[in-house]
Amino acid sequence: MTLETQSLPLLREALDRLSAGFADLPAADPDLDLDRLRAVLLETAERLHDNYPYQHPLYAGQMLKPPHPVARLAYTLALWINPNNHALDGGRASSAMEKEAVAELAALFGWQTHLGHLTGGGTLANLEALWVAGQLHPGAPILASAQAHYTHSRISGVLGLPFESIPVDGQARLDLAALETRLQQGAVGTVVATLGTTATGSVDPLPGLLDLQARYGFRIHVDAAYGGYFRLVDNLGDEARAAFDRLDAVDSIVVDPHKHGLQPYGCGCILFRDPSVGRLYQHESPYTYFTSAELHLGEISLECSRPGAAAVALWATQRLFPLARGGSFAADLGKARAAACDLHDRLAGDDRFLTAFAPELDIVIWGPRAESASAISALSRQIFSAAAAENLHLAVVSLPRELLQPSWPEIAWDQAQVTCLRSCLMKPDHLAWIEVIWQILDRVTKQVLAKA
Ligand SMILES: *Cc1c(COP(=O)(O)O)cnc(C)c1O
Repeated sequence: MTLETQSLPLLREALDRLSAGFADLPAADPDLDLDRLRAVLLETAERLHDNYPYQHPLYAGQMLKPPHPVARLAYTLALWINPNNHALDGGRASSAMEKEAVAELAALFGWQTHLGHLTGGGTLANLEALWVAGQLHPGAPILASAQAHYTHSRISGVLGLPFESIPVDGQARLDLAALETRLQQGAVGTVVATLGTTATGSVDPLPGLLDLQARYGFRIHVDAAYGGYFRLVDNLGDEARAAFDRLDAVDSIVVDPHKHGLQPYGCGCILFRDPSVGRLYQHESPYTYFTSAELHLGEISLECSRPGAAAVALWATQRLFPLARGGSFAADLGKARAAACDLHDRLAGDDRFLTAFAPELDIVIWGPRAESASAISALSRQIFSAAAAENLHLAVVSLPRELLQPSWPEIAWDQAQVTCLRSCLMKPDHLAWIEVIWQILDRVTKQVLAKA
């Protein structure tokens, strides 16, 4: 393949348009040694060869999705200005664009009012959500499922809040019965629900969690860093659909535009339903705010300097692909999910493989059939390597015995964890490539099993 460059002339044209905005300033052109610049840049390109081909449909492993050209170009365009969205002084247009783009994300979740902003990523956004939770319920425990992102317990540690892990059900979702048992003991500040867990794309049962909230009273933070955009698609299962439909009722939501929102890295988002939590951020900075009485994004954020370019890229992407049900962005996301269902069906119908539960989003996990957890783990790693040698890039994931034993009762559990194969089918192109992906998987599985 060749990398997409057909959109590059548009960058030149847009730069000329941007440049025209500064035409009344006296010339101040930088001195550039183009020969040396060229040499270093070409050397840089060579160094970057050492990567998996994330942009290709045969890359179907970890959560890596190429940014859309509009995001790439808009981000690059903004770098000629390099705005800083910490304060309006550093990024006027890009701060306004951030507020617009973030309001569209809030509307995606059904919120007409909100407080929110972009962050460096999901971890920072979750930190902010739990920081606010801790301000409102000082010292009260944070609860999340055993399949929640590992950073929740670490973030709680940073914030000095107690963290407790709640078991999952047989589909890697927060177990509501276990949660209720814990709630009966009292003193819970916040429950984190994950809509789209990182390992398996499982969707925690938000409707049942809201029922428990009505009875026991606690804050609900939703980590939808991975899954948030799936609210738009029309091919979810009933339980996942019901969870996404209730997102408007929670207290805070994290979504990562740099996961499924077609953005380059450095773009997470935190949203609070109640704008008055802004009071918790109040501080006085002697440095940054002097030319405007308007709200600065830096006044409602834990981070200071942030790339305005990330906001520009997100704004431009949402212009091209409005966050609407039935729109082309939603249709593409639906294709990713359809690809996952297709792969899962093929695996489930093939005796060589063990599947556990059907994907709720676009992440598929499976193992090669074998007698013991250790044998499955060894074969998974061999298939992973053999596939990579044929340019099919999968991932492996280590899952606990408690999760898979109900699905795989005939397996000898000679170890507490089992390494499985995992595929994040995030690109719409994956749907058309499933047949090719399957052929490679079939071939390498035969090779590996023949040697075993
Ligand atoms: C990726 C992810 C995170 C962490 O987000 P980063 O953007 O990598 O910092 C948190 N939670 C979930 C569910 C995720 O998938």
